[in-house]
Amino acid sequence: CGQCAAYCPTGALTFRNDVEKVYKALKEGKYVIGMIAPAVRSAIQEEFDLGDDYVTAGRLVSILKMVGFKKVFDVSFAADLVAYEEAHEFLERIEKGEKLPLFTSCCPAWVKFAEQFYPEYLSHISSVKSPQQALGTVIKKYYAKEIGVRLEDICLVSIMPCTAKKFEAEREEHAGIVDVVLTTRELALFIKSTGINIKTVEPMPFDRPYGLSSQGGISFGKVGGVLGSVVSVIESKGIVKNVTQQQLEKFVALTTVELNDGRKIYGIAVSGLGNTKKVIEKIKNEELKADIVEVMACSYGCIGGGGQPYPNDSRVREHRAKLHKAIVGTDVLISPTENYHMLELYNKYFEKPLSHEAHETLHTTYRHRKRVTETEIDILPLPLEEDE
Ligand code: SF4
Repeated sequence: CGQCAAYCPTGALTFRNDVEKVYKALKEGKYVIGMIAPAVRSAIQEEFDLGDDYVTAGRLVSILKMVGFKKVFDVSFAADLVAYEEAHEFLERIEKGEKLPLFTSCCPAWVKFAEQFYPEYLSHISSVKSPQQALGTVIKKYYAKEIGVRLEDICLVSIMPCTAKKFEAEREEHAGIVDVVLTTRELALFIKSTGINIKTVEPMPFDRPYGLSSQGGISFGKVGGVLGSVVSVIESKGIVKNVTQQQLEKFVALTTVELNDGRKIYGIAVSGLGNTKKVIEKIKNEELKADIVEVMACSYGCIGGGGQPYPNDSRVREHRAKLHKAIVGTDVLISPTENYHMLELYNKYFEKPLSHEAHETLHTTYRHRKRVTETEIDILPLPLEEDE
């Protein structure tokens, strides 16, 4: 992740290149399925001097299809799914008044950090899987059967802004789901090796059904996106009177949701693990009220992920944040609740949020881990930016 080497809780700061695994799968004639994370489409342009290209995701779909990928899906679809399920989990906890604040779970560097440093909060972390793992499970559990392809013939390639996602895919709870994780930089390397000119490629839409997403889903690529999507699902219930936002510090924002009955829900969005530590301490000391906390380990969120192109400093991240916001704005669906293919998944398999089947497929568990020492992880002195 985008944390400094001494702080990195993921052990992810090792050089790893998994491009060869994709070549191998294609060569072996596997049914290769790609899925692209929201933040990749706002940064990979930098590797190709593409400028502020709004249709990069579509170009990536075309290129992957040209080299032999059978399907290319959008992880933003799964972000809608995660926001929908997590909003219901949050409302249930609010109703019961337990395990609050709820912490979001889509950033594996944060999850591992909590497992090591805040085990007392593990039951507070949403049990909903990250979008990568949720979509991976849906593809392997349902989609493979729908298209009649054996699991051993599928190679599922996840393209992420993040080195910690490699670790997440290798967690034992997620075994056999995602086969290869490529970072944005690795994908750029892969594209360069094909000789295809990304600038002249005609964009193609993502494959359906898991290619549809809302603005909420794509906004997962930047800090505040998860909280915003969860709030928009809650708003769709008709129980919200007013929503206000306030920037408390550079990387800490507060969203206040006033319900029709006068109750208020406080949501915090924080990025950077150093900032997260400060927020948790303030919540513990009751200096900060919070019912839900979105945590992203990299400052600015996934657009600043450790797998994104270099340089990856604040100036670049700020630019990506603006581009990402503009790309989000091009989507015609606003809220995850408008994603009809996501709702179809509920009709077909889950029946309703938090059902037994939804739990089996979309939820996971965490465990207390011992703290990692520098001698246990292979740390290389990368020029990464520290928390600001
Ligand atoms: Fe990965 Fe995003 Fe978390 Fe950074 S913020 S570690 S890119 S999931």
